Amino acid sequence: MSSSSPDSAPQSIAARLAAVQARMAAAAREAGRDPADVTLVAVTKTQPWGRVKALIEAGQTVFGENRVQEADDRWGASEAEGLAGDVRLIGPLQTNKAEAALARFDVIETVDRDRLAEALARAADKLGKRPRVLVQVNTGEEPQKAGIAPRDADAFIARVRDVHGLSVEGLMAIPPVDEAPGPHFALLAKIARRNGLPVLSMGMSGDFETAIRLGATHVRVGTALFGERDPG
Ligand SMILES: *Cc1c(COP(=O)(O)O)cnc(C)c1O
Repeated sequence: MSSSSPDSAPQSIAARLAAVQARMAAAAREAGRDPADVTLVAVTKTQPWGRVKALIEAGQTVFGENRVQEADDRWGASEAEGLAGDVRLIGPLQTNKAEAALARFDVIETVDRDRLAEALARAADKLGKRPRVLVQVNTGEEPQKAGIAPRDADAFIARVRDVHGLSVEGLMAIPPVDEAPGPHFALLAKIARRNGLPVLSMGMSGDFETAIRLGATHVRVGTALFGERDPG
């Protein structure tokens, strides 16, 4: 197929959304799961507002953002337009931005250290808001990646609940890019199961079907919805 073929014309955002939803539903059914038990989190980082708006108009309601400031800019403006989404933080959070994050996000998926849990608990008291959080697990134990090490996860989850008083809904992970994701998803599911946590945020554009087979309740998808980012 040449690059001028009509088949390679950019698909509309609504068509991409429908295609991703169909693939998610098929993966859920193959695994004997109810497709309604898997939520699509549309990852909007770096996307211009017009494309996010097109996705909202196509019916998408749940969004993932990587940075507090970018989310404030994007969703602050959207509220002025009367458009809202359920926005989750999926990127690393600095302790000094805990309060801003709590004010902005419905769910914070990246709690991975005591100082951050403590800062969120303090911000929660101040804002009178009950944080909904996931614990990020560094399943590949990559030094450059955020997340608690798998062997420390049980104790950390207990401290987030019992010492910091936050309600932990589940776990989130980003497997190493150069490894098969399945074992990482299975490990995350196992840690969640033994800690009685119902929510599993795992799987991105390249591997969300595998994640759904292994129990994901939330898949975080950017590229498959928006296409590759424009070069330059
Ligand atoms: C960017 C990002 C995604 C989405 O990745 P795609 O491959 O574009 O679907 C998911 N999760 C996190 C934490 C991300 O930063």
